[in-house]
This record gives sequence, structure tokens and C-alpha cells, in this order.
Amino acid sequence: MGVESWGRLIFGAFAWIFFGLTLWRLGSFVRDLWIRAATMHRIPCTQCQFFTNQTVLKCTVHPDWANTETAIFCRDFHPQD
Ligand code: SF4
Repeated sequence: MGVESWGRLIFGAFAWIFFGLTLWRLGSFVRDLWIRAATMHRIPCTQCQFFTNQTVLKCTVHPDWANTETAIFCRDFHPQD
């Protein structure tokens, strides 16, 4: 094999490695996005009667952690009528 063939082989290997890493990062990004979305959908506040839907006071019981992941296991959750 000549120098040109080795160059193509090495360049091709680097291109495939770069392509694989890009796919891997894209897959990780989509997986993290999916997990994040699933977690956000578990927050019950918008279905709770104490939720005000206002930026100043989101919840009359727990305004500090309303609409956060902490609210997933909120003991004061009461479904709206
Ligand atoms: S009481 Fe709990 S579940 Fe209801 S809005 Fe407040 S933080 Fe969310």
C-alpha cells in the first residue's frame, strides 16, 4: 500500500469515528430529552386545586416547590373538581 492509500484509510477511520460519536451524542441527547419529558409529565400541579396558574404565587400551599420535580410526591395534592 502506498502513502496515499494509508492516508485514505486513516482519514476514513477518523471520519467513521467522528460519525459514530456524533450519532452516540445525538442518541444520548434524545434519551435525556425523553427522560426529562417523562419526569416533567409526572408533576401533578396543573391538576391540583391549590395551583393558581400565576407566576407570582403558583401554589397556595407550597409556593416554593410548585411545578418542580419536588412536587411529584406532594402529599397535599388534591385533584380539581
Ligand atoms: S399542593 Fe402540591 S401538588 Fe398541589 S399545586 Fe401545590 S405543590 Fe403542586
